[in-house]
Amino acid sequence: MRISYSALDTYQNCSLKYKFQNIDKIKEPKSKEAVFGTLIHSTLKFIHTPALLQPKLEEALDFFSKNWNADVFENEMEERASFSQGVAIIQDYYKKNNPADSNIVDLESRFAIEIADPQKNTTHIVSGIIDRIDKTEDGYEIIDYKTTKKMPSQEKVDNDLQLSVYLNAFLSRYPKEAERLDKITVSLYYLKHGVKLSSTRTKEQLQSANKIFLDVASAIEEGKFEPNVTPLCDWCGYQKLCPMWKHKFKEERKIDTEEVNAAIEEYINIKAAITTTKTRIAELQEKIIDYMQQEGVDRVFSEEGIIAESIRKTYKYDEKKLREILEPLDKWEDVLKVDSIALKNILPVLSLAARKEIDSAKVLDKETRSLTVKKK
Ligand code: SF4
Repeated sequence: MRISYSALDTYQNCSLKYKFQNIDKIKEPKSKEAVFGTLIHSTLKFIHTPALLQPKLEEALDFFSKNWNADVFENEMEERASFSQGVAIIQDYYKKNNPADSNIVDLESRFAIEIADPQKNTTHIVSGIIDRIDKTEDGYEIIDYKTTKKMPSQEKVDNDLQLSVYLNAFLSRYPKEAERLDKITVSLYYLKHGVKLSSTRTKEQLQSANKIFLDVASAIEEGKFEPNVTPLCDWCGYQKLCPMWKHKFKEERKIDTEEVNAAIEEYINIKAAITTTKTRIAELQEKIIDYMQQEGVDRVFSEEGIIAESIRKTYKYDEKKLREILEPLDKWEDVLKVDSIALKNILPVLSLAARKEIDSAKVLDKETRSLTVKKK
């Protein structure tokens, strides 16, 4: 299989989007964010392309403005805001970086590396483009520019798959550097914030990046494509095809009767009313229990009926004692089941690689259908 890093990333965010894009080959209209990001990347390439004299800030701004595409924006206000943001990014970039000082080895560096799958005796190719590779005092720095609003935590950067894949690609070109991993910095430069987050990688992390890639490759080969609703859906050009969103577009509905629309509306309203009622019940309960304690009674009376207080006790077992009883009876193993709530609680503190491994250990137990409501 040949797959680009961006397709791999798409698969990890939403495998159905990957299918639309890479298997069904349905063209996705370019979003304004993507057009903006591409122009910022080209401007940075323009700034750093080796020349006798590095472009000054005014020349970089001129490049940005000449290549600006106003057509992708819905209105003038949005377009102006985005243009000003682009100008601010470039100004800030110049303030924090002197292009003449950087020692660039390669810009928009294309790669295609082989990843062998020994279990299936096959080889895959992952390709991509590294925004920038710099020579540093005692090593190298691999930089990827980001134009997203949200900045990740340092922990996420330390486990970022893209940086591991890029470093693997770099090492396939400079294999001797594999002995000096501590001298290679991998960085994500968040241009909207003017902040560069950097990290390094260990041999183990690089191997685990390959393992993640192989897992994705097998999932694709097995035809596993499920929608995954996340905030990224707002920028997805396949909403009209996606089962999670297509109903939003009236013209995409096969059945659009008053009866079914009324049922949907009523369901949403009843669910909302239940939530409001539950909140009110909790408030009233607190007030009444308080009153009963003050009054010293276990039941209260009104024209409407009687309310009685009951106490439900829940117990948990002392694990040590339970083990001492059950182990001699050879029954301890029977009660040791994976506690999925406890597992969910420890997941955030595990590394990305460990989380992925745990995720791949999941098997479908049972499937039940239910409806959840998000009221406007
Ligand atoms: S809209 Fe969201 S869930 Fe649907 S394909 Fe796009 S990213 Fe996936």
